[in-house]
Order: sequence, then structure tokens, then C-alpha cells
Amino acid sequence: ATPMSVMVGVGKAAEHGILIRNGDALQQAGRLTTIVLDKTGTVTQGKPAVTAIVPVPGMAAGTVLQWAASLEAGSEHPLAEAIVAKARESGLSWPAATQFQAVAGHGVHGQVEGAHVRLGNSKFMEDHGIDCKPLRSEAERQAAGAATPMYLAANGKLAGIIAVADPVKADSQQAIERLRQLGIRVVMLTGDNAATAHAVAAKVGISEVMAEVLPQDKDKQVAELMRHGEIVGMVGDGINDAPALARADVGFAIGTGTDVAIESADITLMSGSLNGVANAIAISRATVRNIK
Ligand code: ADP
Ligand code: MG
Repeated sequence: ATPMSVMVGVGKAAEHGILIRNGDALQQAGRLTTIVLDKTGTVTQGKPAVTAIVPVPGMAAGTVLQWAASLEAGSEHPLAEAIVAKARESGLSWPAATQFQAVAGHGVHGQVEGAHVRLGNSKFMEDHGIDCKPLRSEAERQAAGAATPMYLAANGKLAGIIAVADPVKADSQQAIERLRQLGIRVVMLTGDNAATAHAVAAKVGISEVMAEVLPQDKDKQVAELMRHGEIVGMVGDGINDAPALARADVGFAIGTGTDVAIESADITLMSGSLNGVANAIAISRATVRNIK
């Protein structure tokens, strides 16, 4: 590629809101064979909202939400924001949790007014010997509908579940179809449970899903695909995604995402639309074709 044609390509991309860090990234984009998409905030809008609160018999939904809010007030996770917003809308007030701890990829726990309260996924509950059976089928129903169910337990006993849903971006499905037409394999990567992940993936036409991946293991999944000969583009928005963005052949950050993701990426998509990935690949291929 001549430096001149690469410069023209980078300029053309910028007109489409695609900021490319260097000429190498532009040329690599056209060679990608696999695109890995983070779920929350990349495929989805990143604006989760509580869609259901189901207590065990004898427990009030308001108490479940209040306990959850006490814990999540100390967390920066998107799921936490959804729970605190719901508690606020419901006119609740809640005591601050003490001895608060967040366990990456699992959930949160702490003391709330003399009770030890734990909130997170089924793995988190199993690891601490909490029986989720009474609400298992309800949680599965929520997950099949593309919501993320979280279990809440107080003093080691299941108290309820809270389901949170994050709608997919309006143009994700169309953008993913374009990637496929460009001959690209599309994989979704998430820390969320497999059932929810597959339900979200189905909405946008993705069949290949890597779910229940711990935040610190996302970059290893990317490396594994590369080891199998794939040329990998990773698209993400979160702090958790930064190592995977750096590891990939081309890292794409969602422009509305965190600064850490943008700093780790080769390409930033200002609009936040996944169409930017397909556009970048198309511009790259046109650029490289012109110089051959
Ligand atoms: P993602 O890839 O969607 O960002 P994470 O790895 O952050 O997912 O979290 C994976 C799962 O762990 C979540 O779907 C949730 O069930 C649980 N979890 C993580 N953080 C929290 C939290 N602050 N409150 C409740 N559950 C959480
Ligand atoms: Mg994300």
C-alpha cells in the first residue's frame, strides 16, 4: 500500500465517523476473518433496565429490591445502575451496605442491617452453597426471553430473583448480516450466562457464542481464535474489554464506551453502530485493491 492511498483511506473512514489510529490498522481491517463482539454496550444498547422481581413465597418484592439496591449502590456495573434506578423509581430508600465486595463475573455481597446479602449469577450462589432450585425455572424463563436473571440471598437463603434486560441496538442485526456478506465469521463474547447470551445472539442473527467468560479471560478467547489461524477483530466498549481489544489483530472501540477501551483500540467507531465495523472493512479492502 502506498502511503498516499492509505492516507486517503484513513480520511475516507474519518468522514464516516471511523477514527483509525494508523495505516497498519486500516490495512489489517480488510484481512480480518473473524469479528468478536462484546455483548453489553456493543451488540446491545448498554442501557439495562429491571424487567421482573420475583421473591420466594413469603418474601416481599420491595424487600428484595431494597436489599439489592443497598449492595449495588457500591457497584459501577451496568446491572447495578439498573437496580438502583428501579429502587429510586419505586420510591424506596435503602441503607448502605457495609463490608461490600464485588466479585468480577459473579456478583456482589455485603452486610445490610445485620443480614449478609449476596446478589449475582447462579455460579456465585452455587459456589456459596445457596440452593436456587425454588426459582430456577423462573430464572430460565427470564433468560430465554433475553433478560439476565440475578439471584439474591440473605443469610445463605434464597430470597428472590431480579431480571434485567438490555435491548439490542436498532441496527445490530443489519450490521451483522453485512459482516457475514463480507465473508466474516461473527462470534459474541460475554460474561453473562449461556441462555441469556444465546437469546440475545438469536435476536441479531449470531449463532456462535462464548458465554460465562470471566472478565480476565476475554483476551485469552481472542488469542485462542488467533492461534487457530483466524485474523481477529474485537469490538468492545468496557474496561473489561481493554485487554482483548489490545490482543486482537484489530481492536474496535465503541465511541460512547469507556476511555480505557478507546485507548486500547486501533479504531474508534464514533457513532457506536456496528455498521462502522463493516464500513471500516469495506474501506480497507477498497484501499488495498487500489494499490495492488
Ligand atoms: P458482561 O460481560 O456482561 O459485562 P460480567 O463479566 O461483568 O458480564 O458479569 C457476568 C455476570 O456476573 C453478570 O451477568 C451477573 O450475573 C454477574 N454480576 C457481575 N457483576 C454483578 C453485579 N454488580 N451485580 C449483580 N450481578 C453481577
Ligand atoms: Mg460491554
